[in-house]
Amino acid sequence: MKDKIWLSPPHLSGKEIEFVKDAFDKNWVTSIGENINEFEKSLQSVLRDDVEVCVLNSATSAIHLALMMLNVSVGDEVITPTFSFVASANPIAYCGATPVFIDSERDTWNMCPVALEEAIQDRISNGKKPKAIIVVHLYGMPAKMDEILEIADKYEIPVIEDAAEALGSTYKGKSCGTFGRFGILSFNGNKIITTSGGGALVCHNQEDKDNAVFLSTQARDNAPHYQHSHIGYNYRMSNIVAGIGRGQMEVLDDRVEARRKMHDFYVELFKDIDGVEVFSEPTEEYYSNHWLSAMVINEKITGRNREELRLAFLEDNIESRPLWKPMHLQPVFADAPYYGTDVAENLFDNGLCLPSGSNLSDEDRARIKEVIAKFFS
Ligand SMILES: *Cc1c(COP(=O)(O)O)cnc(C)c1O
Repeated sequence: MKDKIWLSPPHLSGKEIEFVKDAFDKNWVTSIGENINEFEKSLQSVLRDDVEVCVLNSATSAIHLALMMLNVSVGDEVITPTFSFVASANPIAYCGATPVFIDSERDTWNMCPVALEEAIQDRISNGKKPKAIIVVHLYGMPAKMDEILEIADKYEIPVIEDAAEALGSTYKGKSCGTFGRFGILSFNGNKIITTSGGGALVCHNQEDKDNAVFLSTQARDNAPHYQHSHIGYNYRMSNIVAGIGRGQMEVLDDRVEARRKMHDFYVELFKDIDGVEVFSEPTEEYYSNHWLSAMVINEKITGRNREELRLAFLEDNIESRPLWKPMHLQPVFADAPYYGTDVAENLFDNGLCLPSGSNLSDEDRARIKEVIAKFFS
């Protein structure tokens, strides 16, 4: 059996271990220490100098904290894209609130501004203004932020930007994760950089950051004994894990470059195959880290479908995966409101994520190329 080619495996640099060892040597192994401070600083300088970053144990925790800091609670409604990973919607349920799902548009596959405004107007006419809007930059592709922010401003609804997949992506030259009231990053094992597991909340002032640190470390009041006047959470990143993050930040640019090269590889590979579209930036205003390369296959033109291609890859021990199954089609969210047509459903039916790791070899690419050539011959 040939070696497995994974969809998006972790890619360590070797530098991580020095920072982890430093934490061991100094015995700073819990929720404070130099690795945490330095990891936060380097994220801030990559994103934008005037943001404040709070590193946490996951992006899911970061979304939950952001919702709580916007006072989302039982009975509220929060807008989120139907076409995303379930972690964009689960924290809404943790708050006892209801997700309102919005369809994608075709250019970026992200939240459709038209369906967004329709949803807001309809929810308001039903007597309930949504408490927040969660925008996602799927597979690293920036959403239509100008249009979305204009609508959010018009109705005065705060935006949480789920940039879990989009560290290193920009829209009109500005980093994804810095547009909303809060931004979210993930360092899960399959993301563009990893800390083995972790996330971050991007804030725009010191007060929000201090509040995020407070809530994520059990909300301890300032007293010599254990004194609490708020419900707290155990969501902070440890200084050990942050050491892995520091090592990864040194190679972030290389990782983005390698992922973007994988995208170019697929563009070249499919350029002469009618009925296959590789997911690409609609204009130069969008700069994707191409965390995952993805394609859509038109069955009418090619005579083949995405499941057949997935199985052809699998036969050669290569992992590929259908695009996200829309949240409004998930049994757990069957009762939640949904606005849109069938864009996300079509993407799910016909789309496939392709091996995108920054550590794929020329040999791996040759195997992928061979499967594609055989499949479409
Ligand atoms: C991975 C991911 C998350 C969750 O990140 P964790 O760090 O694993 O909690 C949230 N949203 C999106 C869009 C993701 O891809």
